[in-house]
Amino acid sequence: MTVKTIPVATFDLVIFGGTGDLALRKLLPGLLRRYADGQIPEDSRIIGVARDALGADGYRAKVGAALERACSGEEAVRAKLPAFLSKLDYHALDATKDAGWDDFAASLTSADGRVRVFYLSTSPALFVDICNRLRDHGLNGEPSRVVIEKPIGHDSASAAQINNAVGAAFAEGQIFRIDHYLGKETVQNLLALRFANILFEPLWNANRIDHVQITVAETVGLEKRASYYDTAGALRDMVQNHLLQLLCMVAMEPPAALSADAVRDEKLKVLRSLRPIRADEVAQITVRGQYKAGASSGGAVPGYLEELGRADSRTETFVALKAEVDNWRWAGVPFYLRTGKRLPERVSEIVICFRDVPHSIFEDSAGPVVPNKLVLRLQPDEGVKLWLMIKDPGPGGLRLQHVPLDMSFAEAFGVHQPEAYERLLMDVVRGNQTLFMRRDEVEAAWKWVDPILDAWEQLRDPPKPYTAGSWGPSAAVALIERDGRTWHEDAA
Ligand code: NAP
Repeated sequence: MTVKTIPVATFDLVIFGGTGDLALRKLLPGLLRRYADGQIPEDSRIIGVARDALGADGYRAKVGAALERACSGEEAVRAKLPAFLSKLDYHALDATKDAGWDDFAASLTSADGRVRVFYLSTSPALFVDICNRLRDHGLNGEPSRVVIEKPIGHDSASAAQINNAVGAAFAEGQIFRIDHYLGKETVQNLLALRFANILFEPLWNANRIDHVQITVAETVGLEKRASYYDTAGALRDMVQNHLLQLLCMVAMEPPAALSADAVRDEKLKVLRSLRPIRADEVAQITVRGQYKAGASSGGAVPGYLEELGRADSRTETFVALKAEVDNWRWAGVPFYLRTGKRLPERVSEIVICFRDVPHSIFEDSAGPVVPNKLVLRLQPDEGVKLWLMIKDPGPGGLRLQHVPLDMSFAEAFGVHQPEAYERLLMDVVRGNQTLFMRRDEVEAAWKWVDPILDAWEQLRDPPKPYTAGSWGPSAAVALIERDGRTWHEDAA
């Protein structure tokens, strides 16, 4: 299948933190793939910024080595590497000091008129300094755009500080708050499934849907993120942004158009409809866990505290909770969310579990009539499965079987699925904010999460231990089984 690639306008993209993990592992490989695909105009520039006195050649060498690793096995992409590296430049700057900023600004203003993107791939502690200096050097006017990464704060108050600081330099229409889950093919396919088919929308409500499950499971432990992660935990790191954004995409009303504000208005209404979790019910409908030593990806792994090198951390590496959306469409339909580290497999999926048929006409010998499920898998192997009941093929009476209608996108269309960052970076250049979070969404999400954090704090319970390589504490199973339901397991 041929894929249409529409080139974007010529741009300058500045990556603050251009030598960091995110830049080398995700942003620059994504840009190389877009370049290899012909989407990035030849006269565009990509400029790394960090404190290290690397020089442009040193930076190209560093990025070249990282891209060789990241794109190994992608021959057509690697063939474009030398040309891509020639677009790279580097400025050694300390975001907290004035030295060097005048030259940096002059190098950008010399190419005035083109789209300028500032990607803040640094600690959020530097956002204020960077934005202020960009403004002081006149780099904040249109057509400049700024991209900010999570975490946007660790609670409502700190998120407001970051949003105020960035907002003092850039207008909301220039600010792109990235949540890379929204750039995944399946999430956009959810929009297509829901709003480009007549089949699903009439069923998409409490009359036909029993409950929804959203799972984002990682097999990795702390990796190199210990100092950040231990101050955040799974609720802040994953639920406040990724899982709630996915919930919004499932639960939102049809927007009037596929425009940034129309979509974000609908997501905001969902966030504002989330029933607050009260302190007296937090122990019942939320579960916090922390992994202990076990086995993951075929090998023995240490527990969280051993990895961290501290015995007293109460940070949760797992959360499961039951959320309710208090509106007409979703009344009485629970959304079970779970996420954690050191779980048995790396998988992110949304499972829409439909209700039972009202009456079964089949004999017991036919087997049970299992409710339909729509499973949207975000990673790995993005795709959609619709679980249906069919007659077991062949002679021997009518027996029922639960089977998936399987649509793995890569197999079905035979095309490379762009990684989320690839798509989102091109959306920034185009100025399309549809898949980025607006300030009020971030605030509404924190407003729902803050009381859970406060209630956990008051409870003073340590997180429940779970063995690395398991699906979290047994309380997470109890959370859903108490309601007569079970977590989805992909049997096919
Ligand atoms: P990182 O590996 O620690 O990189 C930080 C970068 O910032 C380095 O290039 C560093 O280079 C630069 N830097 C530090 N202090 C600076 C200063 N004063 N002035 C200018 N540059 C400075 O961090 P990361 O993992 O790439 O993460 C970057 C951001 O993305 C963080 O907000 C993180 O939470 C977020 N994020 C990361 C990931 C991921 O997968 N890594 C995923 C989601 C979100 P020098 O030390 O040479 O200055």
